[in-house]
Amino acid sequence: MKKILITGGAGFIGSHVVRRFVNNYPDYMIVNLDKLTYAGNLANLTDIEDKPNYRFVKADITEASAINELFGKENFDAVIHLAAESHVDRSIADPTAFVMTNVIGTVNLLNAAREYWKGDYDKKRFYHVSTDEVYGALGETGMFTESTAYDPHSPYSASKASSDHFVRAYHDTYGIDIVVSNCSNNYGSHHFPEKLIPLAINNIKNGQPVPVYGKGENVRDWLWVEDHARAIDVIFHQAKTGQTYNIGGHNEWKNIDLIHLLCEIMDKKLGRAAGESAKLITFVTDRAGHDLRYAIDSTKLQNELNWVPSLQFEEGLEKTVEWYLQNEGWLSDVTSGNYQAYYENQYEGR
Ligand code: NAD
Repeated sequence: MKKILITGGAGFIGSHVVRRFVNNYPDYMIVNLDKLTYAGNLANLTDIEDKPNYRFVKADITEASAINELFGKENFDAVIHLAAESHVDRSIADPTAFVMTNVIGTVNLLNAAREYWKGDYDKKRFYHVSTDEVYGALGETGMFTESTAYDPHSPYSASKASSDHFVRAYHDTYGIDIVVSNCSNNYGSHHFPEKLIPLAINNIKNGQPVPVYGKGENVRDWLWVEDHARAIDVIFHQAKTGQTYNIGGHNEWKNIDLIHLLCEIMDKKLGRAAGESAKLITFVTDRAGHDLRYAIDSTKLQNELNWVPSLQFEEGLEKTVEWYLQNEGWLSDVTSGNYQAYYENQYEGR
């Protein structure tokens, strides 16, 4: 049985990756390591938590001793590393937390692999999940490819860029088998409502203002989170060592157009008059250093590993809205913060 450590598996993308691997690979033991920060929520995984090939470990990747102890105890065959501080606005308020988790935490995992995988570097795999934000900003044309030079602008993207470099350096220096993927913005179920789409859904539902930065001119590429999880599965199993893949939806939207589409869907779902939800749109002072446009070219992944997104954005967005409306308990627990205390009590000391 293969034993795979997935870090950050209680978060948004991580929970989709854990679910996919636990369900699709009954012969793998999936160990989900997560600190359960405000963004980590074991309620994301209630449907698989009792499966025999799943285990949860509460740990902090910034604590090298805890990581080393775990690697010493468990004979992991691979790591899929998603644990991170992930919100750009929080990185502007507190950059150090991003350096600690995203840079030091990643290096701690790499050091544990270097120490405990000795003699087996070519048989084990370290998969690092990253973002397209490391590439910086585009003008009105062009796309990021795997060879685009890094040019991060926010403390978040600077910390992710640094972690990407460390992962590649451990391949080049020590020969550890690594792969890296850089993905565009994800959307879907179980997304913490501080990010644009779940925040807007929650606020529209509650009749609260929907904040849009600047004039809403920023352009992002959006990918359904389950398509990202499938891409990670394909890359993990098929990529050659040392490779990087860009993952994207070929699906660029100006923030303001996306919010209008969301308002239309919400009007329909909530039985409101057309245009009602759009009245909640409120323009706010632009984010400092806000990158104008990201667009990602995932041709390499398509050509080499035969991956393409499965879902049209409009359909995916509608599914996402439905999930939030059907899971009001999840949303209110997350926004009230109650779930955090509950799970800390439940999992302390395991
Ligand atoms: P998230 O914030 O929803 O989840 C992060 C998870 O990491 C949480 O469960 C949190 O508890 C855990 N974590 C944070 N600090 C930790 C620590 N010190 N030790 C152990 N666990 C810790 O983030 P997400 O949106 O699911 O992103 C997952 C990964 O994918 C990140 O590496 C992110 O950079 C990358 N990514 C995200 C997107 C996106 O659109 N959300 C796009 C591309 C790449």
